[in-house]
Amino acid sequence: MPASAASRVEIVRDVENLRARLAEWRRGGETIGLVPTMGALHAGHISLVHEAKKHARRVVMSIFVNPAQFAPSEDFCSYPRSFEADAAMFAAAEGNLIFAPSGEAMYGEGFATTITVAGPAAVGLEDRFRPTHFAGVAIIVAKLLNQCRPDAAIFGEKDFQQLKVVTRMARDLDFETKIIGVPTVRDTDGIALSSRNVFLSAEERALAPCLYAALRRCAHDINGGVAIETALDSARATLAKAGFVTDYFEARHAETLCPIASRGEGPVRLLAAANLGKTRLIDNIAV
Ligand code: AMP
Repeated sequence: MPASAASRVEIVRDVENLRARLAEWRRGGETIGLVPTMGALHAGHISLVHEAKKHARRVVMSIFVNPAQFAPSEDFCSYPRSFEADAAMFAAAEGNLIFAPSGEAMYGEGFATTITVAGPAAVGLEDRFRPTHFAGVAIIVAKLLNQCRPDAAIFGEKDFQQLKVVTRMARDLDFETKIIGVPTVRDTDGIALSSRNVFLSAEERALAPCLYAALRRCAHDINGGVAIETALDSARATLAKAGFVTDYFEARHAETLCPIASRGEGPVRLLAAANLGKTRLIDNIAV
């Protein structure tokens, strides 16, 4: 990529400068789309940038590995970080500004505020295995929405529960920003792109597409009339046999994420989290 493309992207590291720059754009009548990320960009993140451009003249990407959404036992320290490559990818997608604050800029001394999220954040999926995760997501997304005041903020369906939690929070707290979800981008073998896929060994990487295959098979069975619980049990057994340690593999109402026993009860979403070695994969599909 030519150096000129990367140099067109502005990089801002504190809230004051962010607000000043966005205010200039707004004064010029330009709308703003926000794509919140933790960096280590891949084509999934870039699809959010493309979506943002459909809704706004200027696209801001935040890159911040948010400590509040990692439990002490999780991979905050080893989470992949690749700022230069990220800036180049964002520039190639013709994004405008990267907001990459420091930890201190986001959580200053004396920081003492939390957001309690329930509803889709308390349905026994990710929240069961990562009990502090969505409070961490909520606080950082609320801060970003306040700092940027974007017209639209774009999130991936890859983190389906997160999308529902953020949508609920934005509605409940009267953020004016429109929350938009984007379908999951996958590799050719079906695996959902994820920054964490780099942690998979070659052997695990070869097995990883089984998760999506199990989701598809399960959806196919349910659509073919197999009882939901039977289809789920069969998917769980297939994954166990393939060497996955499954945290959950569930059918839920696609809007509320509440348990659903039959197709007639509403739109069904299958959601799964499963571990391959030390790597935890999550995925989901519509039925
Ligand atoms: P992350 O950097 O993992 O926090 O992800 C930032 C945003 O990108 C979130 O809204 C994710 O849901 C979204 N995202 C991550 N992977 C994908 C993917 N494979 N397809 C679409 N969106 C994704």
